[in-house]
Amino acid sequence: MTLSASQTSLRVPFFDLDYDESEERAILEVLQSKWISMGPRTEEFEKRFAQALGAKHAVAVSNCTAALHLSMILIGVGPGDEVVVPSLTFVATAACVKMVGAKPVFADVSSLDDWRISPREIEDKITPRTKAIIPMHYGGEGADMKKIMEIAREKKLFVVEDACHAPLGEIEGGKLGTFGELGCFSFYSNKNLSTGEGGMLVTDSDEYAERARLLRAHGMTTSARQRHEGQEFYEVLEHGFNYRMDDLRSCLGLVQLEKLPERMKRRSEIASRYHKQLSNQKGLRLPENERKPSSVHHLFTVLLDEGIDRAGFRAHMRKLGVDTSMHYPPVHMFTGFNEQGVPLPVTEEVGKRSVSLPIFNQISNQQIDYVCDSVSKTLKELS
Ligand SMILES: *Cc1c(COP(=O)(O)O)cnc(C)c1O
Repeated sequence: MTLSASQTSLRVPFFDLDYDESEERAILEVLQSKWISMGPRTEEFEKRFAQALGAKHAVAVSNCTAALHLSMILIGVGPGDEVVVPSLTFVATAACVKMVGAKPVFADVSSLDDWRISPREIEDKITPRTKAIIPMHYGGEGADMKKIMEIAREKKLFVVEDACHAPLGEIEGGKLGTFGELGCFSFYSNKNLSTGEGGMLVTDSDEYAERARLLRAHGMTTSARQRHEGQEFYEVLEHGFNYRMDDLRSCLGLVQLEKLPERMKRRSEIASRYHKQLSNQKGLRLPENERKPSSVHHLFTVLLDEGIDRAGFRAHMRKLGVDTSMHYPPVHMFTGFNEQGVPLPVTEEVGKRSVSLPIFNQISNQQIDYVCDSVSKTLKELS
């Protein structure tokens, strides 16, 4: 007797790491070299990442939150300043503004079909105290950078891109992360390019790159590696942080970066397969984000119809063996931000009704079909 996919209890995790012998070999080489902290692999990773994006500089840091924090310092955001940010994002997009004593001002996303920060909302939120905008490329689709850059130029604002979802993603006019003064990337485990923890700051400015390199390592003028190679002892030019990346992670980044273009094709197939099966499914709608061929599909997110119990949906999916997630609980609603009074109706609606389905490079077509089948069963069960 053969069981159909829906009868077997397939388990589909929300994410699975795409590592193979290449990553293992790279790690072993670094271990054997006995240089495990920031050194030649990190330099190589920075060089390749900058090349891949067509950016002048890439500065590797310990995570994207560090990249965002450094960006705020580099463009001179401080107490009394405001920075316009989305609320439908990971908390770090807004937290970095607070880290330098400034105020994040939340802007809504465009519509229930377009979950990217709305340029019109950005314009509405600009005041004489506004210093910068941080667009985030939700799910891997580029924010409307043409309009956002126009607004920024007109109002003389800086733009820092939170490009965590979109390494190698592009829109008309260039690679995501290279439109603003600075672009920030994360290599956290479940991102499209994984090193466990890790991040990158990308810029065309020599001045920002040079100061970012100082600030990520305590403001010191020479690195441990340079001193190891005989350069003189360091001077400290300004107080900084320890936001360094290390070679153990950078070697993983190099392997993952090389794999990425191929993996992006698979993600695109996964998204189309989901799309085909779910676009006529009653009880949910698909935001436009996933249809865009330019998206690098970090997420595959659906919007449940009004009145469907999301917690019940997720619990039933889990019972069928399918893990789901939510992107995102709106940042302005968190106790630590205390901006619940700010009306962001679309963000709040998406925050209540969205569910993210499993998407990762090695998910099989059978698993995708099983997820869709489970969605259908679950919605029937709940109606
Ligand atoms: C993952 C993520 C971050 C934070 O990245 P870390 O490397 O974990 O600091 C910030 N913004 C967005 C949109 C993210 O997805």
